[in-house]
Amino acid sequence: MLPEVQALLRLQDCDHAVTRLEGELAELPKRLDALQKETAAQAKTLATLEAKLKADESERRKLEGDVERHKSKIVKLKKQLNEAQNFTQTQALEHEITWAEQAIAKAEERELELLMEEEQLRADIGTAKGALLAMQKNFETERQQALTRHKAGLAEIATLNEQRKSSLATLTPQVTSIYERLRKKHKNGVVAVEVVNTQCQGCFMEIRLQLWQELRANQPFMTCENCGRVLYIHPTTGFDPQTGPAPVQ
Ligand SMILES: [Zn+2]
Repeated sequence: MLPEVQALLRLQDCDHAVTRLEGELAELPKRLDALQKETAAQAKTLATLEAKLKADESERRKLEGDVERHKSKIVKLKKQLNEAQNFTQTQALEHEITWAEQAIAKAEERELELLMEEEQLRADIGTAKGALLAMQKNFETERQQALTRHKAGLAEIATLNEQRKSSLATLTPQVTSIYERLRKKHKNGVVAVEVVNTQCQGCFMEIRLQLWQELRANQPFMTCENCGRVLYIHPTTGFDPQTGPAPVQ
């Protein structure tokens, strides 16, 4: 294999590794954002439950006050009833006592409903608090891991960029220019490709037999006539079934 093609493959490997690392590092803040949103949603759920509990407790305290007032009123009404002078007064007082008793029954029924609801809410709040705590802990762990990975990733990229510079230094300006042009053209960054059984592994078109023979015999710097990628034959796998394996270089 031509030293230039070997350098191109090293360069290509470096660029692929950098692209992969950059992609991985770009995902880190996205992952943290998603976790932060989940945690915020859980905090909101907890706040809603706590607000509902507070409202229920407040409503129940008000009902307790109402019951006490109704009871005091009944005591007064019963006293007045004992001192009633006529049937009309008696009837009116009895009607008021009945109304107050009904109001007490209604309030006590609602108090019971609220008590049961509060019990459920306290259990739900306990669960929600536990989940929120776990999420906050997990977020902090992942944040620390992301910071460590980001730092390590940047160091790996810096090393790869040094390796890239070394590989570039061994290429002629023409080959460097071909590499950069092909890299822009082929978004997956595959610039140098193997020829397997006379087929370009970049575009999967058959290369002309004459070119394949030339490539196999002399290993010149050659590009695919269809996709323009730099071609090479692997010393052991790039053979034609009809002519046998290529000589090991
Ligand atoms: Zn091709």
